[in-house]
Amino acid sequence: WLVCRQSRSISSSSRCMSIMPAWVIDRYGSNDVLRYTKNASFPVINYPNEVIVKVFAAGLNPIDVSMRGGYGANTLSMKRDPLNIKLSGSEFPLILGRDVSGVIMECGPDVKYFKEGDEVWAAIPPWKQGSLAEFVVLSGNEISLKPKSLSHVEAAAIPYVATTSWSALVNTGGLNKDNCASKRILILGGSGGVGTFATQMLKAWGAHVTVTCSHNAERFVGELGVDHVVDYTAGPAEEALSALEKFDLVLDNVGGDTERWALGLLKPWSGAKYVTLVTPFLQNTDRLGIADGMMQTAATVATKTIKHLVKGVHYRWGFFAPSGPALDEITDMVDAGQIRAVVEEVFSFSQVSQAFEKVEKGHARGKTVIEIS
Ligand code: NDP
Repeated sequence: WLVCRQSRSISSSSRCMSIMPAWVIDRYGSNDVLRYTKNASFPVINYPNEVIVKVFAAGLNPIDVSMRGGYGANTLSMKRDPLNIKLSGSEFPLILGRDVSGVIMECGPDVKYFKEGDEVWAAIPPWKQGSLAEFVVLSGNEISLKPKSLSHVEAAAIPYVATTSWSALVNTGGLNKDNCASKRILILGGSGGVGTFATQMLKAWGAHVTVTCSHNAERFVGELGVDHVVDYTAGPAEEALSALEKFDLVLDNVGGDTERWALGLLKPWSGAKYVTLVTPFLQNTDRLGIADGMMQTAATVATKTIKHLVKGVHYRWGFFAPSGPALDEITDMVDAGQIRAVVEEVFSFSQVSQAFEKVEKGHARGKTVIEIS
């Protein structure tokens, strides 16, 4: 690292090979595939718009548990190696961890808006090496200046769920700070990472927010400003929800049989949308391969979209999308006191296995964060 720091140019930096501590996996499987090493490859700046970030805290998400087991391997491998030049298994050793808060250690020559020493946060795309390491390399348009009002641990609880919520609600759902005031929004699964973030963002924008959650999370989500709570453990949620005024948008964080009834809760012929985050896209490509999986996905989404369109409601799939600019807006909301970090549990860097176990058990009440340094 010291050798790297003395060299200021990209080419000499990328020639410089060094090592760092990290948690890696060398194959897909259950928690025992997680391995701590002091000898992971030091990340290298390959493109002029990239930065190297020293990781202070990393957030875990359900996708880390799924990726540990091989979820999305076909699609993510194609994204890492589009020309299919490398041998299968070349993604290993793979570093998981999608959220990072840290400090920029080195900038590529085209990085204009950031400098060494800036405190930044980011959501790391799943095809890149993750944040369960001392350093990570990211592109300049994936990072944003971290909110000054948050510690690194708090900041690492937000980027992945925030950029997912932004992508689903703003880009797919068409919501923004100026059009939410008269809208009724339903969030299925309000107590987890996405639910607790989306609730706060929508409340800051003036929407009326109803969520479903377990009985023991009712008070917790109430403290985030939720207007109405339906306890899905007390009986069929669809019955309680269908007694309410209809909604302008449903964000589905639960999946399963929710699609059977949730679209019926929307105001028909008003532009109302159902956006689900639980989609079969990566399972299809895992199961059928890239080409057939994509064909199956396109057929499924087209059929469902048309089926619901004739009933006057819009059916959409929502996806995580990395975005520094979205995080810039969220930084402002956090520093204005409109959104707070909801950290459920903090683990040390030596306790990454325990942190995975915690996320794998489900029943999240906010986020699980690892303090790296
Ligand atoms: P979390 O694990 O943080 O939260 C899930 C929450 O849902 C838990 O609080 C759980 O609590 C609650 N829950 C479970 N079953 C129900 C139910 N039937 N009704 C209401 N609440 C329920 O997950 P995230 O918030 O991070 O993610 C939510 C979903 O979105 C996940 O399936 C994830 O894979 C997906 N996702 C998809 C992305 C994409 O790009 N498409 C990106 C990010 C997330 P309890 O069990 O106690 O009720």
